[in-house]
Amino acid sequence: MRRLRNAKIVATLGPASCHEDVIKTLFEKGADVFRLNFSHGTHEDHQKNFETLRRLEQHFNRPITILMDLQGPKLRVGTFAEGKVVLKPNQVFTFDLNAEPGTQDRVCLPHTEIFKAIEAGTDLLLDDGKLRLKVIRYSHDSIETIVTTGGELSNRKGVNVPAVLLPLSALTDKDRHDLDFGLALGVDWVALSFVQKPADILEAQNLIQGRAKVIAKLEKPMAIQYLDEIVRLSDAVMVARGDLGVEMLPEEVPSIQKRIIHSCRQAGKPVVVATQMLDSMVHTPSPTRAEASDVATAIYDGVDAVMLSAETASGAYPVEAVAMMDRIIIQTERDPVYRQMVDHSRPQPQPTVADSITASARQIAHIISVPVIVTFSDTGSTTLRAARERPESPILALTPNLQTARFLGLVWGVHAVLVPPINSFAEMVENACHLAFKENFAKKGEQILITAGVPFGKAGGTNILRIAKID
Ligand code: PGA
Ligand code: MN
Repeated sequence: MRRLRNAKIVATLGPASCHEDVIKTLFEKGADVFRLNFSHGTHEDHQKNFETLRRLEQHFNRPITILMDLQGPKLRVGTFAEGKVVLKPNQVFTFDLNAEPGTQDRVCLPHTEIFKAIEAGTDLLLDDGKLRLKVIRYSHDSIETIVTTGGELSNRKGVNVPAVLLPLSALTDKDRHDLDFGLALGVDWVALSFVQKPADILEAQNLIQGRAKVIAKLEKPMAIQYLDEIVRLSDAVMVARGDLGVEMLPEEVPSIQKRIIHSCRQAGKPVVVATQMLDSMVHTPSPTRAEASDVATAIYDGVDAVMLSAETASGAYPVEAVAMMDRIIIQTERDPVYRQMVDHSRPQPQPTVADSITASARQIAHIISVPVIVTFSDTGSTTLRAARERPESPILALTPNLQTARFLGLVWGVHAVLVPPINSFAEMVENACHLAFKENFAKKGEQILITAGVPFGKAGGTNILRIAKID
């Protein structure tokens, strides 16, 4: 079972997709990575989905990638006596630490960090940016604001403070608890929400201890200041346009998206574009033309993956959304302009043995048009470098490490297969040819490319590029 495209699809599970038959169909239609969103659902829900996915992995005999997404320090107001209030433009409204139910004039904001970090003139955004309030004066326990954009404010709505570095860790107590749970299950990727600074990544990695890969969600303007450093420290990055679009102006999002993608492609780190990609498919069976174009734009930019959120988690057409995304990607990658754009934006190889080999593989694949590049890799690091080249041939990643086979599901152009450890050169060539044929990447008589490291079993040692004929 192979995909006929390079870019991958991440599908978020939720009430619309928690049954085994739906999840199975999502996989068949093209979902490569499944997101368990810990902002919603119980541990029981996530465990059930996790177990379903691992069962499907057995059923399809294909590694399936599971990403847990931590809620992160999402700030929220308290509750109101009447459940909600309507704030009018120019009225004064106060946030405080008083847990009593809110009124027309005040509400609890149970995050002391905000009181320390703001200044007069700071904007507070409520309910995904629908309401905007400006700070007039503040003390250690109260923030007096004037309403710039009014509207309805109900219980526990989110609060964004875009322009300020809040003295918050990227991991709340809930996140730490969820993380322990997810790591015990055995998730492949952990997504960190509201990353603000490089230290946030280090803090998470310190807890994770290599048990899963870390994906930094860029959804705070503050994080963009440290973009290259965050990309360097993370294993992958997500352009989290939902919250990013709240904290910045809509017209700022496209160029930030391009900057993040550029930085990731330079570094050879997988990059995912997320949120609202096929948003109208939450309610209707086909997307707007603008949405189709949004997915295609990410593909032309050479991203590793595009993500579906509400479309598959709570929408009316989860299967159709995945199938639609699959079709848009396939169609876009067939466009000769796609190849031109991806080649044009290809980063320079670094002066390393791995890059010299993977860059040569790309070039050979172009000159003699081989049907597949086979990489033997334990940690997946050479496979990532091969994907960084965005070659014209798909990458068949052979690895004896199940964790590697699974995490590579997020990576551009990679089809991973778990294999027993290799002991000799002849065995390596034989295995590569056999699997290239068996997995439908090459036919008898065709030539394939193989990269590997000898001596076998030593990590990070790719030093061989071999052309072999399938017979
Ligand atoms: P979320 O993250 O769906 O967890 O909020 C993605 C985003 O903000 O775009
Ligand atoms: Mn978000």
